[in-house]
Amino acid sequence: MVDSGTIRTTCPYCGVGCGVLATPQQNGHVSIEGDPGHPANYGRLCSKGNALGETLGLDGRLLYPEVDGKTVGWDQALDHVAHKLNTTIQKHGPDSVGFYLSGQMLTEDYYIANKLMKGFIGSANVDTNSRLCMSSTVAGHKRAFGADTVPGNYEDLEHADLVVLVGSNMTWCHPVLFQRLMAAKEQRPGLNIVVIDPRRTKTAELANLHLPIKPDGDVALFNGLLQRIVASQMVDTNYVGDHTTGFAAAVNATQISQKELIKQTGLSAAQLDEFYSLFVNTEKVVTCFSQGVNQSTSGTDKVNAIINCHLATGRIGRKGMGPFSLTGQPNAMGGREVGGLANMLAAHMDMENQEHRTLVQEFWGAPNLAPKPGLKAVELFRALKTGKIKALWIMGTNPMVSLPETENVAKALANCPTVIVSDIMADTATSQFATVKLPALGWGEKSGTVTNSERRVSRQRAFLPAPGEARPDWWHVAEVGKKMGFVDAFSFKSAAEIFAEHAALSGHKNDGKRDFDIGAYADVSEAAYDALSPFQWPQPKNAEPSITRFFANGSFYTKDKRANFVPTRLQSQTKPGRGKQVLNTGRVRDHWHTMTRTGKSPTLSGHIAEPYCEIARSDASRLGIESADLVLLRSGRTEIILRALISDKIQTGHVFAPMHWSSNLSSLTSVNAMVKADLDPHSGQPALKSGRVTLERA
Ligand code: SF4
Repeated sequence: MVDSGTIRTTCPYCGVGCGVLATPQQNGHVSIEGDPGHPANYGRLCSKGNALGETLGLDGRLLYPEVDGKTVGWDQALDHVAHKLNTTIQKHGPDSVGFYLSGQMLTEDYYIANKLMKGFIGSANVDTNSRLCMSSTVAGHKRAFGADTVPGNYEDLEHADLVVLVGSNMTWCHPVLFQRLMAAKEQRPGLNIVVIDPRRTKTAELANLHLPIKPDGDVALFNGLLQRIVASQMVDTNYVGDHTTGFAAAVNATQISQKELIKQTGLSAAQLDEFYSLFVNTEKVVTCFSQGVNQSTSGTDKVNAIINCHLATGRIGRKGMGPFSLTGQPNAMGGREVGGLANMLAAHMDMENQEHRTLVQEFWGAPNLAPKPGLKAVELFRALKTGKIKALWIMGTNPMVSLPETENVAKALANCPTVIVSDIMADTATSQFATVKLPALGWGEKSGTVTNSERRVSRQRAFLPAPGEARPDWWHVAEVGKKMGFVDAFSFKSAAEIFAEHAALSGHKNDGKRDFDIGAYADVSEAAYDALSPFQWPQPKNAEPSITRFFANGSFYTKDKRANFVPTRLQSQTKPGRGKQVLNTGRVRDHWHTMTRTGKSPTLSGHIAEPYCEIARSDASRLGIESADLVLLRSGRTEIILRALISDKIQTGHVFAPMHWSSNLSSLTSVNAMVKADLDPHSGQPALKSGRVTLERA
C-alpha cells in the first residue's frame, strides 16, 4: 500500500530495473524512494536512483518540433517526416531508410518502430544502441540455446555458493544487484565471489579472488576451465548425453596447453588453479558477465565459452546455478523482445525463419515484410556515409558520443539528406546534424513497460505533465505511420493498446512452444495495464506463471531440443604497438551514458566531477606524469586531454577513461571517438574496450 499521490514506477538507468516510488510535492520537487514491493530491489536504490528527483528540470529540453531549424507545429513536422520517408523509399527503395533506436526507449516505442520499419516500409534497417551493449550475448544465447533466453534470475545469485563476475564492475554498474549479493554473503560468508577483470575495480576489491586477466583472455580462460572439468571427471555425463550436442567436438577444439593458457590470460598457474578448483568443486555456481565480455571482437565466443562450462557440468536452469548476462540499459531486454535488433523479428522470432516470418506478416497484415536482416549499428552508419542510406530516424540516443570512430559518424550524418532526431534534449552532439527534431517525453513523463536482466517486465508510469509540445516516442512513430498511408496498422491511442498487441503477437499460434510468450496480457484493459504488477516472462494465456528458470527440464529451443556446445576460437593477442597503450572505456558509479539526466544532479556530479584517465603508476613514472596533471591521448583519429589519475589498480600499458563526457560543440571530444570500430563477427558489436592510444603529458 502506498500513499495516494505516490506513483510506482521503474528506474530509467541500468538493467537491474529497480522499482521506484515517486511522490510529487507541492513545491514542485519529487521525492524518491525504493519500492519495497518490487522484486528486483525490495526497496533498495543506488546513488543514481536516489538522485532521480534532482534530474527532472526542464533546462536544455527540446519542447517544440523543428524542421530545418525552424519551430513548427506537429502536423507540419509529421507531414514533413512522412513525405521525406515516402519519397526516399519511392526513389531509392526501402533499404535507403534506417531507424536507430535506444535501450532507453520503452517496449511499446520499440515495438511500433520495428513494426513500421520491418512490416510496412519493408526494410530491416532498424538497429539500436543495445548493439553496443549486449548483442554478443544475444548471439551466444542463440548459438547455444536456439533462442535469446536468459536461463536464471536474481535469486540465483543469492542461492549460489560461488558467483563469478566476468568483465563486470557490478558495484558501480549494477549496484543494487551487488548489494543483494553482498547481503547474501553477509548471511553466508562461505559464498565466494571471483572477479575476472583486467582492472582492480571496486568490485574486485570486495571479491574473494581477483583474476587480473589480460584483455580478451576470457575465451582461453574458460576453454581451460572446460579442459579442467573433463580432467577432473566433473562432467555431468547424464545431462550432456541427454540434453546437449557437440560436446566431444567442443572439448577437442578447445584444447589449450598450460603454457598457452598462461600466455593468453596473463595469469599465473597458481591463480588459474585456484579459480578452476573453486569452480569444479562448487556445484552452485552463477557466472555473470557484462560489457567486458560483450564489447570485444570475440564477445560471442566468450559468452559461449562460459556457457560451455555450465552445460558440461549440468549447472543451468537450477536454483543457484547458470550463466547470467547483466544487461546494461534499462530496456535492452524489452527491445530484444519486440525485435529491436536488425536481425530479429518481434516476440523473439527470427528474420530468417519462414514460419516466423509468415506468422508475423499475417498477424500484422504487413504488406511488405523485410525480406532479409538489416544493417547492424556500425554497418548502418557506414551505409549512411557511403550514401546508401538517405534518411535516418534516430530516437533517444546520441551516437556521436556512444559509437566508435566518431569522425565517421559525423561524416555519415553530414552526408545524409534527412536526419530525424526524436529526443528530450534540444542540443546534442547528434542533433546538430538533424534536419527534423521531434520533442520526446522523458522519465516521469512517459508511460510504458521495460524488461530487466532477469526477464521481469515492469511499468514506467508518468507522474509529471508533458512539457511544451513533447509527445511519447510511440506517438511520433504512429502518427508518421498513418501519414505514410498505414492508417489501420498504426491507429493506436495509448501505450496500453500497443502492449496488448505485442502480447497478443507473442502468444499468436504459439501453443506454449516458444520461450517468449506473454499472451496472458493480450486482452489487457487500460485499467489492468495501469495497475500491472512486475512479472517475469513467459506468461502464456490460460497458464499459471510457473517458469522462473529455463532449461531445468533440459529442453532447449533448437530443432532437436538439445543445447549446443560451441567450439570457440582463441583471440590472437595483438600487442598495442610501439609507444601505444590499450584504452579501456567504461562507466563511473554516478553517471549514466551521455549524462543527459545525471549531469543535472549536483549530488551525482559530486562523486567524480570531471573526466579522467586512469594510468598505471609505472607508466606515469616512465612518462613523467604526476597525479592531476593534464595528459594528452592520441589515437590517430582524434586526441583528447584528460586529468591524470595515477593508480595501482590498472595494468602497465593500459589506460582507462569513462565514456560519459563530451562537448556538443566538437564532434570528436568523446572517449569512444578514439576507438576503432572493430566488430565481433557474429554479433556486430564493436570492441569498445580495446582502443589503442599514445599517452603523454599535455
Ligand atoms: Fe537504478 Fe540500476 Fe541503481 Fe537500480 S541499480 S537504482 S536500476 S541505476
